[in-house]
Amino acid sequence: MFTVPDLPYDYNGLEPHVDEQTMKIHHDKHHTAYVNNLNAALEGNDTWLKMPVEEVASKISEVPEKIRTAVRNNGGGHANHSLFWSIMCPGGSKISDAFKKNLTETFGSFEKFTEQFTQAGMTRFGSGWAWLVNDSDKLAIMSTANQDSPLMEGKIPLLGCDVWEHAYYLKYQNMRADYMAAWWNVVNWTEVEKRFNPKG
Ligand code: MN
Repeated sequence: MFTVPDLPYDYNGLEPHVDEQTMKIHHDKHHTAYVNNLNAALEGNDTWLKMPVEEVASKISEVPEKIRTAVRNNGGGHANHSLFWSIMCPGGSKISDAFKKNLTETFGSFEKFTEQFTQAGMTRFGSGWAWLVNDSDKLAIMSTANQDSPLMEGKIPLLGCDVWEHAYYLKYQNMRADYMAAWWNVVNWTEVEKRFNPKG
Protein backbone atom coordinates (compact mmCIF):
# COMPACT_ATOMS: atom_id res chain seq x y z
CA MET A 1 0.00 0.00 0.00
CA PHE A 2 1.20 3.43 -0.90
CA THR A 3 0.56 6.47 1.28
CA VAL A 4 0.77 10.22 0.74
CA PRO A 5 3.79 11.69 2.53
CA ASP A 6 3.13 14.63 4.83
CA LEU A 7 4.20 18.01 3.53
CA PRO A 8 7.55 18.88 5.14
CA TYR A 9 6.26 22.44 5.78
CA ASP A 10 2.93 24.18 6.36
CA TYR A 11 0.41 24.59 3.55
CA ASN A 12 1.11 28.32 3.60
CA GLY A 13 4.88 27.82 3.82
CA LEU A 14 5.53 28.61 0.17
CA GLU A 15 3.53 31.84 0.16
CA PRO A 16 3.45 34.18 -1.65
CA HIS A 17 4.92 32.18 -4.55
CA VAL A 18 2.68 29.13 -4.21
CA ASP A 19 -0.53 29.88 -2.37
CA GLU A 20 -1.99 27.97 0.57
CA GLN A 21 -5.24 26.94 -1.12
CA THR A 22 -3.39 25.50 -4.11
CA MET A 23 -1.11 23.53 -1.79
CA LYS A 24 -4.08 22.15 0.18
CA ILE A 25 -5.96 20.98 -2.88
CA HIS A 26 -2.83 19.80 -4.66
CA HIS A 27 -1.51 17.72 -1.75
CA ASP A 28 -4.72 16.57 -0.07
CA LYS A 29 -6.90 16.03 -3.13
CA HIS A 30 -4.77 15.50 -6.23
CA HIS A 31 -1.90 13.58 -4.67
CA THR A 32 -4.28 11.54 -2.51
CA ALA A 33 -6.28 10.59 -5.61
CA TYR A 34 -3.14 9.33 -7.37
CA VAL A 35 -2.27 7.19 -4.35
CA ASN A 36 -5.79 5.82 -3.95
CA ASN A 37 -6.02 4.98 -7.64
CA LEU A 38 -2.56 3.38 -7.61
CA ASN A 39 -3.51 1.16 -4.65
CA ALA A 40 -6.78 0.22 -6.36
CA ALA A 41 -5.02 -0.64 -9.64
CA LEU A 42 -2.45 -2.84 -7.87
CA GLU A 43 -4.90 -4.55 -5.52
CA GLY A 44 -3.84 -8.18 -5.12
CA ASN A 45 -0.42 -7.57 -6.72
CA ASP A 46 1.58 -7.71 -3.50
CA THR A 47 5.01 -7.64 -5.14
CA TRP A 48 4.25 -4.32 -6.78
CA LEU A 49 2.45 -2.92 -3.73
CA LYS A 50 5.57 -3.45 -1.60
CA MET A 51 8.00 -1.73 -3.95
CA PRO A 52 9.09 1.88 -3.56
CA VAL A 53 7.04 3.84 -6.08
CA GLU A 54 10.24 4.97 -7.82
CA GLU A 55 11.02 1.31 -8.54
CA VAL A 56 7.50 0.77 -9.86
CA ALA A 57 8.01 3.71 -12.22
CA SER A 58 11.37 2.48 -13.43
CA LYS A 59 9.91 -0.98 -14.12
CA ILE A 60 6.73 0.30 -15.77
CA SER A 61 7.19 -1.88 -18.87
CA GLU A 62 7.04 -5.00 -16.64
CA VAL A 63 3.71 -4.07 -15.04
CA PRO A 64 0.90 -6.37 -16.28
CA GLU A 65 -0.52 -4.83 -19.43
CA LYS A 66 -4.10 -4.75 -18.16
CA ILE A 67 -3.21 -2.29 -15.37
CA ARG A 68 -0.13 -0.65 -16.90
CA THR A 69 -1.80 2.60 -17.96
CA ALA A 70 -3.42 3.09 -14.55
CA VAL A 71 -0.09 2.39 -12.82
CA ARG A 72 1.77 4.67 -15.23
CA ASN A 73 -0.57 7.59 -14.57
CA ASN A 74 -1.10 7.13 -10.85
CA GLY A 75 2.27 5.65 -9.91
CA GLY A 76 3.90 8.43 -11.89
CA GLY A 77 1.63 10.92 -10.13
CA HIS A 78 2.65 9.54 -6.73
CA ALA A 79 6.39 9.52 -7.53
CA ASN A 80 6.34 12.97 -9.14
CA HIS A 81 4.42 14.68 -6.35
CA SER A 82 6.45 13.01 -3.59
CA LEU A 83 9.55 14.48 -5.21
CA PHE A 84 7.85 17.83 -5.84
CA TRP A 85 7.02 18.51 -2.16
CA SER A 86 10.56 17.66 -1.13
CA ILE A 87 12.38 19.85 -3.65
CA MET A 88 10.55 22.96 -2.43
CA CYS A 89 10.90 24.70 0.93
CA PRO A 90 9.83 28.01 2.49
CA GLY A 91 11.95 30.77 1.02
CA GLY A 92 13.99 28.29 -1.02
CA SER A 93 17.51 27.23 -0.07
CA LYS A 94 20.83 28.50 -1.37
CA ILE A 95 22.43 26.59 -4.21
CA SER A 96 25.98 25.43 -3.43
CA ASP A 97 28.90 26.79 -5.44
CA ALA A 98 29.76 23.25 -6.54
CA PHE A 99 26.32 22.49 -7.95
CA LYS A 100 26.07 25.91 -9.57
CA LYS A 101 29.39 25.14 -11.26
CA ASN A 102 27.97 21.82 -12.49
CA LEU A 103 24.99 23.60 -14.00
CA THR A 104 27.21 26.30 -15.52
CA GLU A 105 29.50 23.72 -17.12
CA THR A 106 26.53 21.86 -18.58
CA PHE A 107 24.27 24.70 -19.70
CA GLY A 108 26.64 27.68 -20.12
CA SER A 109 25.49 29.65 -17.07
CA PHE A 110 23.00 29.36 -14.24
CA GLU A 111 20.73 31.81 -16.08
CA LYS A 112 20.86 29.70 -19.22
CA PHE A 113 19.94 26.67 -17.15
CA THR A 114 16.85 28.38 -15.69
CA GLU A 115 15.90 29.69 -19.15
CA GLN A 116 16.11 26.22 -20.72
CA PHE A 117 14.26 24.60 -17.83
CA THR A 118 11.51 27.23 -18.05
CA GLN A 119 11.36 26.72 -21.80
CA ALA A 120 10.86 22.98 -21.24
CA GLY A 121 7.89 23.75 -18.99
CA MET A 122 6.45 26.44 -21.26
CA THR A 123 6.57 24.28 -24.38
CA ARG A 124 5.00 21.25 -22.72
CA PHE A 125 1.59 21.33 -24.37
CA GLY A 126 -1.24 20.50 -22.00
CA SER A 127 -0.29 18.86 -18.71
CA GLY A 128 3.10 17.62 -17.63
CA TRP A 129 6.38 18.38 -15.94
CA ALA A 130 9.71 20.11 -16.57
CA TRP A 131 12.73 18.24 -15.21
CA LEU A 132 16.39 18.47 -14.39
CA VAL A 133 17.60 14.86 -14.51
CA ASN A 134 20.65 12.71 -14.12
CA ASP A 135 20.97 11.10 -17.56
CA SER A 136 23.84 8.60 -17.50
CA ASP A 137 25.71 10.71 -14.93
CA LYS A 138 25.17 13.94 -16.85
CA LEU A 139 22.80 16.77 -16.01
CA ALA A 140 20.03 17.22 -18.59
CA ILE A 141 16.74 19.07 -19.00
CA MET A 142 13.63 17.33 -20.29
CA SER A 143 9.87 17.44 -19.98
CA THR A 144 7.28 14.70 -19.69
CA ALA A 145 3.59 14.56 -20.56
CA ASN A 146 0.84 13.86 -18.05
CA GLN A 147 2.31 12.08 -14.99
CA ASP A 148 5.11 10.28 -16.79
CA SER A 149 8.29 10.14 -14.73
CA PRO A 150 11.84 10.42 -16.12
CA LEU A 151 12.36 7.10 -14.29
CA MET A 152 10.20 5.50 -16.99
CA GLU A 153 12.93 6.47 -19.48
CA GLY A 154 15.83 5.40 -17.26
CA LYS A 155 16.65 8.91 -16.03
CA ILE A 156 16.80 10.05 -12.43
CA PRO A 157 14.74 13.16 -11.62
CA LEU A 158 16.58 15.73 -9.52
CA LEU A 159 14.28 18.76 -9.82
CA GLY A 160 10.76 18.86 -11.21
CA CYS A 161 8.25 21.63 -11.81
CA ASP A 162 4.62 20.60 -12.06
CA VAL A 163 3.08 22.53 -14.97
CA TRP A 164 -0.40 21.03 -14.73
CA GLU A 165 -2.93 23.84 -14.39
CA HIS A 166 -3.91 22.46 -10.97
CA ALA A 167 -0.43 23.49 -9.76
CA TYR A 168 -0.93 27.20 -10.45
CA TYR A 169 -4.35 28.13 -11.84
CA LEU A 170 -5.92 29.50 -8.63
CA LYS A 171 -3.21 32.14 -8.22
CA TYR A 172 -1.78 32.55 -11.71
CA GLN A 173 -4.74 31.55 -13.95
CA ASN A 174 -3.36 31.04 -17.47
CA MET A 175 0.02 32.64 -16.69
CA ARG A 176 2.25 29.59 -16.54
CA ALA A 177 5.33 31.76 -17.13
CA ASP A 178 4.58 33.87 -14.03
CA TYR A 179 4.15 30.72 -11.94
CA MET A 180 7.43 29.25 -13.17
CA ALA A 181 9.26 32.53 -12.58
CA ALA A 182 7.97 32.70 -8.98
CA TRP A 183 8.60 28.99 -8.36
CA TRP A 184 12.40 29.42 -8.45
CA ASN A 185 12.05 31.30 -5.13
CA VAL A 186 10.99 28.11 -3.33
CA VAL A 187 13.41 25.57 -4.80
CA ASN A 188 15.17 23.51 -2.14
CA TRP A 189 18.59 23.18 -3.75
CA THR A 190 19.97 21.22 -0.81
CA GLU A 191 17.51 18.45 -1.62
CA VAL A 192 18.14 18.66 -5.39
CA GLU A 193 21.90 18.36 -4.91
CA LYS A 194 21.50 15.35 -2.60
CA ARG A 195 19.81 13.49 -5.43
CA PHE A 196 22.72 13.97 -7.84
CA ASN A 197 25.24 11.22 -7.14
CA PRO A 198 27.13 10.52 -10.34
CA LYS A 199 29.15 7.34 -10.25
CA GLY A 200 32.93 7.66 -10.18
MN1 MN B 1 0.23 18.11 -9.59
